[in-house]
Amino acid sequence: MRIDVITIFPEYLSPLELSLIGRARREGLVDLQVHDLRSWTHDRHRTVDDTPLGGGAGMVMKPEPWAEAFAGVRAQGQESLGADVEPLIVFPNPAGSPFTQATAQEWSQCEWIIFACGRYEGIDERVYQHLADIGCEVALASLGDYVLNGGEVAVLAITEAVVRLIPGVVGNAESLVEESHSDGLLEYPLYTRPASWTDPQGILREAPPILLSGDHAKIAAWRREQSLQRTGERRPDLLE
Ligand code: SAM
Repeated sequence: MRIDVITIFPEYLSPLELSLIGRARREGLVDLQVHDLRSWTHDRHRTVDDTPLGGGAGMVMKPEPWAEAFAGVRAQGQESLGADVEPLIVFPNPAGSPFTQATAQEWSQCEWIIFACGRYEGIDERVYQHLADIGCEVALASLGDYVLNGGEVAVLAITEAVVRLIPGVVGNAESLVEESHSDGLLEYPLYTRPASWTDPQGILREAPPILLSGDHAKIAAWRREQSLQRTGERRPDLLE
């Protein structure tokens, strides 16, 4: 998969050099390029924003650098992937559709995603119209019902959720199967050794004995029951 990120804070994306995503990049499973939007400005101050038309607080990202950035990054990507390959362009946006595990599954099949990180009050609306008019597939994705300062944190989260689903990125593919949200339920509680643990207050805390029984069918049934109970308590909306 190829991923391009366009941002005014390229250094914000440096965590993507670490851990499993960093290794996936080094192993060639993901080609991830970060681009500075300001490289597509032409004035001395490298301006990417201006005051909102119609008045109001804050600043709005100008359309010209974004249109030039998309054209430049699209040309770069098509040079390596082929002229007929088109990217999915994702704008993190609190007014977008909720990004879920199902979205992550769908996007993990993409050959190419371009992320566009908004800042300030957001991006001039005509950029979305322009991209749709030239035939680009555009998605607006919200991380949740709250407002961040910029799209970079959302891109970190979305990239991690998507890239870990690409075969070979997570060592043990089975660990992806029983996770929260993979089957619509929350994951069951987890325990490791020691089975009997005395906590710092001196209280002995035992792991559920069934997990030591060696009876895989009973363990699976217990876990399923725990998943249902936990989902009902914490996220009744998922059970519906
Ligand atoms: N004025 C916008 C609004 O009210 O919908 C909020 C703009 S926010 C301060 C700046 C940028 O942060 C957005 O363009 C988007 O890229 C990103 N952002 C903020 N909250 C987000 C969220 N919940 N999910 C995804 N991206 C978000």
